[in-house]
Amino acid sequence: MADTQRIMYLIGPEQVEMREEVIPRPGPGEIVLRVKIATTCGTDLKVYLRGGHPCMLNVPCPFGHEMAGTVWAVGKNVKGFREGDALVVANSASCGECELCRAGRENLCLDLQYLNGAYAEYLLIPPRFVRRSSHRRATDLEPALAAMAEPLACVFHGLSACDLKTNSEVVVLGAGPIGLMFVAELAHRGHRVILADVVPDRLDVGSRLGATVTVPLSGTVDDGGRLREATSEGRGAELVIEATGVPIAWTNSMKAVGLGGQVVLFGGCAPGTQIPCDTHRLHYSEITVKGVYHHRPATFRAALDRLADRSLKLELLLQAEYGLEGVERALQRMAVREILKASIKP
Ligand SMILES: [Zn+2]
Ligand SMILES: [Zn+2]
Repeated sequence: MADTQRIMYLIGPEQVEMREEVIPRPGPGEIVLRVKIATTCGTDLKVYLRGGHPCMLNVPCPFGHEMAGTVWAVGKNVKGFREGDALVVANSASCGECELCRAGRENLCLDLQYLNGAYAEYLLIPPRFVRRSSHRRATDLEPALAAMAEPLACVFHGLSACDLKTNSEVVVLGAGPIGLMFVAELAHRGHRVILADVVPDRLDVGSRLGATVTVPLSGTVDDGGRLREATSEGRGAELVIEATGVPIAWTNSMKAVGLGGQVVLFGGCAPGTQIPCDTHRLHYSEITVKGVYHHRPATFRAALDRLADRSLKLELLLQAEYGLEGVERALQRMAVREILKASIKP
């Protein structure tokens, strides 16, 4: 058994470095996970380009947060897991005790902790993550699909925030991995989905995942009107999901929604950004606007179940596969929108 492992570190903006370190030994309550697959994510790209994240990552640090693996070693006092168990570990753990956790809003936990470091051969799972964020995965569910439980859990959380009737008309603005996961799940639930993006290739993937209509966008304020025209009789959608994190798309989302409709703002914009909004419409058309963030333990489990039942073709999102040394290449290809996501096999 080798006692060292390779870990990919983020060391600055657009700078990574492979390091060799001793494989951690689990302390009380801890597990060491053997990472089978990590999938790349838009958040990883953001932290790669910016060289860290204000509340999550201070460089130099290991990174990567979507992972599936098996239990390599178990510390004292760990209940429920043993060596060899197939696991998915969520990238955050709530405390379970604060007022928001007690209200079932664990994604807003006052002491939410994050776990990064999936771009490695082994990862130490701290006690709180073992207790609250480690989920067994079906052994016949491929690790690459299982690793996508994290983004899909965010999508399930976003949908749980909506009040949708059956057969609704939904506009999804943004055909990145998250927008496409919304498309797949909404189509699976029987809704009519209109998908819009500025990148035509991504719309094709959306059609294959179940989008009924695709709308190429220009990335300007005119997009709101075009989206509205694409809805039935131009009345505007019952629900608009914004999944780009670009302020202009937030504005356009509010234009594309119909009378009494809902807007879910999913894509996090840069700090300090603001948007203009039509106050008259917001009031007289009774538009509900909701920000949603991250996932909860219940939506994580629901996402894992959905992946296991194989009703979504999310393998279409994994457009490349690399070893650990290929993390940077994968992120660069995502940056130029050549691929949606990659699986990294340490
Ligand atoms: Zn992610
Ligand atoms: Zn809490």
